[in-house]
Amino acid sequence: MRQSPGKPPAVSERPTRIAVDLDHLAFNLRSIRAHVGVPVMGIVKANAYGHGLVPVARHLQAQGVEQLGVAFVEEGIALRQAGVTTPVLVLGGIFGRQVAQFIAHDLEITVSSPDKLRQVEAAAQAMGRKAVIHLKIDTGMERIGVHSYSSKAFIEAAVASQWCALKGIYSHLACSDDPHSSMTAQQVERFLEACSHIERIGAPMPLRHLANSGGVLHFPDTWLDMVRPGIMLYGVQPDPASLRTVDLKPVMSLASQVVYFKVVKEGHPVSYGATWAPERDTRVVTIPIGYGDGYPRALSSRGEVLIRGHRYPIVGRVCMDQFMVDIGQDSAWNEDEVMLIGSQGDEALTVEVLAQRAGVIPYEILVGLNDRIPREYRGA
Ligand SMILES: *Cc1c(COP(=O)(O)O)cnc(C)c1O
Repeated sequence: MRQSPGKPPAVSERPTRIAVDLDHLAFNLRSIRAHVGVPVMGIVKANAYGHGLVPVARHLQAQGVEQLGVAFVEEGIALRQAGVTTPVLVLGGIFGRQVAQFIAHDLEITVSSPDKLRQVEAAAQAMGRKAVIHLKIDTGMERIGVHSYSSKAFIEAAVASQWCALKGIYSHLACSDDPHSSMTAQQVERFLEACSHIERIGAPMPLRHLANSGGVLHFPDTWLDMVRPGIMLYGVQPDPASLRTVDLKPVMSLASQVVYFKVVKEGHPVSYGATWAPERDTRVVTIPIGYGDGYPRALSSRGEVLIRGHRYPIVGRVCMDQFMVDIGQDSAWNEDEVMLIGSQGDEALTVEVLAQRAGVIPYEILVGLNDRIPREYRGA
């Protein structure tokens, strides 16, 4: 094609891209709501599990999600700077020096110790503005939070605080991905026991929330006043043991294009380390994505892709920016679409299967896909 004079050629778009289906995101939110019947805190930490923090949060807000949850204050600030106005809870542990930023950006604070409560009060008082807080109770995760069995004084101090508005009280489930674990019932019991102290001292009950995706899928006792689904919002099951009790659609797909075709002779090894060689002459195509994009190197000679509606194996090691696929005696052409996550024809490759092949959890696949891959948003 001719360029008009003086105009630089259009910057070429990377052929490898993540498509985020916002209609599926909205579908999953509706499914979760219908299942639990309580308000939802949509978890959008870690770049919305790789789907893009701001576009996902904006869409959830447009769908009327009651609350958003992130891990770090920086993620909350990014949401505010993008104009997201939905209440945001920062789930992670805080440092005293960060409290002013929370308050300035209207972010809700996880208060996970008496010491941190004092730090929040001091900063709020200094600013002359109340901090909105959720108390974190440890019921068995041993991560952050005050042990349920010694939380009474902590709860009383929070209730009595002049500079903290007590909006929520919560805990986190350690084993909810497994519907058969007895740990969850124990955690529910410990959590409700801690909450009952608020009742006992005659204070109004804040929002009690406990359920991650596993809780939503398997344990109605954990739903309480609000649920905190993350991975299931994106249409992915948390664990191979998890049950499909909620109808979900995958939000992410990942596609690339064939960039090279060659015939590899019998016995000639492919890629670093010469770990794989064909037993007879075969056709091999190269795909321009690798572990530098977060595509797991563990899929070396274990992963699969879809080309022209057929499933083909990855052969040899996944490189930083490329890997090779054996198409046998079939045909493929440069620029043919290659699906790495998603469907093509009658075939589909899910994040769950990819994770199993790579020996990781689905979360790692999603959040591993990095900013080198452009995201495009469909639907809505
Ligand atoms: C990440 C996180 C969630 C969401 O977990 P999923 O398993 O993705 O649903 C909920 N609550 C807390 C405190 C979290 O850190």
